[in-house]
Amino acid sequence: MSGRLAVIGLGPGDARWLTPEAETAIAAAAAVYGYGPYLDRVPPRPGQARHAFDNREEGARAAAALRHAADGADVALVSGGDPGVFAMAAAVCAEIEAGPAAWRRIDLAVIPGITAMLAVAARAGAPLGHDFCALSLSDNLKSWDTIARRLDAAAGAGFVIALYNPVSKARPWQLDAALDRLGRHLPAATPVVFGRAVGRAEERVAVTTLGAAPQTAAEVAADMATLIIVGSPQTRVVAREGRPPLVYTPRAAGASA
Ligand code: SAH
Repeated sequence: MSGRLAVIGLGPGDARWLTPEAETAIAAAAAVYGYGPYLDRVPPRPGQARHAFDNREEGARAAAALRHAADGADVALVSGGDPGVFAMAAAVCAEIEAGPAAWRRIDLAVIPGITAMLAVAARAGAPLGHDFCALSLSDNLKSWDTIARRLDAAAGAGFVIALYNPVSKARPWQLDAALDRLGRHLPAATPVVFGRAVGRAEERVAVTTLGAAPQTAAEVAADMATLIIVGSPQTRVVAREGRPPLVYTPRAAGASA
C-alpha cells in the first residue's frame, strides 16, 4: 500500500502567509517531518508524530518521509517559504528518482508557499516589477566559480537579482565577494534591499545602495535569515516623507536595457 507525501511550504514566517491548502495538508498528516526550526512553526496536534532533522540532512529527511509514506501513511514534510525554491521538493524528487520503484507510486503533492523573495519585495514596494532572477550564494552544493559566473551573467544581462543564503558562520566572505563582483557591472548607486526574518517578530528591512551594501549588511546583521534584492540599472527609489522609501523596477525596460 502506498500513502501520501505532501511537501509543504510554510511561507517566510507570518502565520497569515500560510495558505489554506498547506494548513489542511498539515492537519491531515499522521506524521510531520522537517528541519527543527520549521517544525517548531507547526503547532503540535494530539496523535500526530513529529520528526525533527538537522539542516544538513536533506536527503535523509526526504528518504525518511518517503519510507513512511510508502508504508501507507499520510506524511507531511515541511519547508520554509516555498518547498520548490532551494528546498525540500527537489531533494524528494531526487530520492524518488534514485530510490525503490515503490516510491514512484506514492501520491506526492508539492504544496506551494510564499517564497522569501516575494515577501521581501512586497515590504519594499515592487523591486521585482520587471525581469529578475534568483541565486543562492551557498557554495555548499556548487563551486564559487559557478556562483561568480552567474552573478556576472545576471548583472550583465540587466536582471534584478534576489540573493538567497547570503551569509552563514561557515561562509563569512561570500556576500562581500558577491557584492564586489556585482559592482563591476552595476553603478554604486544601484538600489539594494535587505530583508531579515521578514514576517517574524525580529524582522528588519533596509534600503541601501550597492556601494553601501557591505556596511548595511553589518548594520542589519545579515545572516541566514536574510534575503537581498539587488536592483537593475532601471530600479528606482521613491523618497516619501515620514514613510520608508519605495523601491520599484518599472514594468517597461529602458531603451538602453
Ligand atoms: N524555500 C525557502 C528558501 C530556502 S533557502 C523559500 O522559498 O523562501 C534559505 C534562505 O531563504 C535564507 O538564507 C534567506 O535568504 C531566505 N529566507 C527564508 N526565510 C526568510 C525570511 N523570513 N526573511 C528573509 N529571508 C528569508
